[in-house]
Amino acid sequence: MPQAPQEPESRQAKAAKIAANPSGYKVCEGCDSIVGAGAVLCPNCHSYRFDDSAERVIFQAKALGAREQTSVTAGDLS
Ligand SMILES: [Zn+2]
Repeated sequence: MPQAPQEPESRQAKAAKIAANPSGYKVCEGCDSIVGAGAVLCPNCHSYRFDDSAERVIFQAKALGAREQTSVTAGDLS
């Protein structure tokens, strides 16, 4: 992808990208994480149940973007 590597994507940018391409992602039923469509297990909670509907992915992506202001953990900065 033609993106400058020195500019880390913000959560909001990531969320916008996910919302623009919901078919490439799915939402974990266990912890509401957004994972790639090819993932077999959730990397967070190891659930194997996912909701791959576009509506759910977009909703969750927006929630992810909205969370940026309120809480940023060390893991989010990597
Ligand atoms: Zn999960």
